[in-house]
Amino acid sequence: MTKIVKKQIYFDYAATTPIDSDVLRQMMPYLKENYGNPSSVHSLGQKAVIAIDEAREQIAQFLNCLSEEIIFTGSATEANNLAIKGVIESSKFQVPSSKLHASSFKPHIITSQIEHHAVLEPCCQAEKRGAEVTYLPVDKEGLISVLDVKKAIKPQTILVSIVYANNEIGAIQPIAEIGNIIYKLRNSKSQALNSKQYPIFHTDAVQAVNYLDCDVKKLNIDLLTISGHKIYGPKGIGALFIKKGTPIEPQILGGGQEFNFRSGTENVAGIVGLGAAIKKAQTLKLKNKNLEKLRDKLIDRILASIPGSQLNGSRKKRLPNNINISFKDVEGEAIAINLDYEGIAVSTGSACSSKSLESSHVLLALDSSHERAHGSLRFSLGKNTTEKEIDRILNILPKIIKRLRKISGSSFK
Ligand code: PLP
Repeated sequence: MTKIVKKQIYFDYAATTPIDSDVLRQMMPYLKENYGNPSSVHSLGQKAVIAIDEAREQIAQFLNCLSEEIIFTGSATEANNLAIKGVIESSKFQVPSSKLHASSFKPHIITSQIEHHAVLEPCCQAEKRGAEVTYLPVDKEGLISVLDVKKAIKPQTILVSIVYANNEIGAIQPIAEIGNIIYKLRNSKSQALNSKQYPIFHTDAVQAVNYLDCDVKKLNIDLLTISGHKIYGPKGIGALFIKKGTPIEPQILGGGQEFNFRSGTENVAGIVGLGAAIKKAQTLKLKNKNLEKLRDKLIDRILASIPGSQLNGSRKKRLPNNINISFKDVEGEAIAINLDYEGIAVSTGSACSSKSLESSHVLLALDSSHERAHGSLRFSLGKNTTEKEIDRILNILPKIIKRLRKISGSSFK
């Protein structure tokens, strides 16, 4: 019997992206013949140095910053950890003891309830170690209020860390407005920390790079996180933009690579891949309109054809590639497995970070019930997504949900 092999359809670009063939081609020499260690003085080592410098420059151009403000890390998770832990640690040395006596100084951090775990976990750890953390709520659309940020800032606030675009529901946060408020506050005379540096503004831009303006000067950002594998680059490489003069302590000590901010022999091929991928990311933005059209078709048709379905997150302030919908009386996990049988890859909850079956903290923050969170599915589109693929899922999904609802005895038909 011949096995029918169904064409794989990938709707999980927010979890990871396939590496671009041109990016891979540029990386290959650094996995093969150009294997030198950038710390070596010989010409093989110097070839690696030149490649790293070029990648740093490509990223700096994209973010509109200096190349020495780019620090390569092993992932975006590591970059977020460096941002949060590094700022907390350095604040112990930076905050003047006059107004806020060092021994009684309790650093305050502002973040949101819908951050990636790579931000939430270091914040929780800081809280356990004596810092105060404000986890800002979001509205029903998953959006943070600029006014809430403004109101939460106090004299002890050393860091504001807000995700640029959420990975689960694609909600785009008002990063420019928050940056502007912090910039103005830092330049006002009443700044109680008596420093032009605090609060420091960090954004996790991992999901934003392909679609949104990441000009750090325009946005007034001090620290910004990116990841290679979300932008058609390799896995295991990330970077943190650190604005010159931002007080931050390194978290990995050793040979002093990356301007002493992150020791360890550089992942040369990964760095080359990240540089090449970010250079190409600019051209992806031109395709936003097409992606938005596909996204809206999928949302509209699902909501119209499947009763008991509900969109999660903002309709307007949404990444062009994100669709997150909850289905009543069915488990997202069951739908995802059934779709997988059909060769269609989707995600439930935050599949890029967690294998747990707990309700998504992001959906719960939108005021969703546990049931709504459990019945959610994320479709994330990418540069290879076609209308034909959208039509295929629109054909298959209603049948799967109908079947699963029949089994569960749902009143929805
Ligand atoms: N931040 C966001 C918003 C993400 O979507 C992800 C994805 O997993 C990460 C951070 C972590 O990225 P990395 O896999 O490079 O550690």
